[in-house]
Amino acid sequence: MDMEEIRLATEIKIKKMTDSLPENLEKLQDDFFIEIEKSQLSPLNKLKKLYSFMDEVYTHINKYTTCKKGCSYCCSYYVTISDIEIQFIEKNNKGIKRKEQFDTDKKRVGTPCLFLKNDACSIYESRPYVCHRHVMFTPDNSVCSEDNAHIHKLRLLSWPKLDKSYDLIKAESGSNELHDIRDVFQKK
Ligand code: SF4
Repeated sequence: MDMEEIRLATEIKIKKMTDSLPENLEKLQDDFFIEIEKSQLSPLNKLKKLYSFMDEVYTHINKYTTCKKGCSYCCSYYVTISDIEIQFIEKNNKGIKRKEQFDTDKKRVGTPCLFLKNDACSIYESRPYVCHRHVMFTPDNSVCSEDNAHIHKLRLLSWPKLDKSYDLIKAESGSNELHDIRDVFQKK
């Protein structure tokens, strides 16, 4: 397949997926934002709710995505993580510790995430927001490889309303700072 054919096939899959989504999904996302905005829960518990909500939304999407267990190209790209997500990973995974001082090495593309084990995420339930959100709709994963991923621009899903909830939780946690996941945690 050449790039134009891949682009077209991707758009067709995205259209099929979009058509299959519940009609009230936009409203559900609005309602979710209002719910967590009003809620007295801690930012950590709000993040847990956001991840559960995303899992529900993704049950409608997963059958259309290219992403499968065993494919991990995107785990070697830049993976942003905020302070509240760092706390969430620490809370939900025994023995995981942050570095005393975070690194600031910017050359991250090409270095697998430290939580990638045998081509699968070892902290899957508590993976960061970007990992929860990122899915592909290409006919196969050939464009995801490091050689191709930053050459071809293909449409990714955009969830501005989920982003709004995520931004609210970050703001309530008192820190909007983002790091690369490899700069934050100690290797076990
Ligand atoms: S946290 Fe998991 S899904 Fe995210 S980059 Fe690391 S291994 Fe991949």
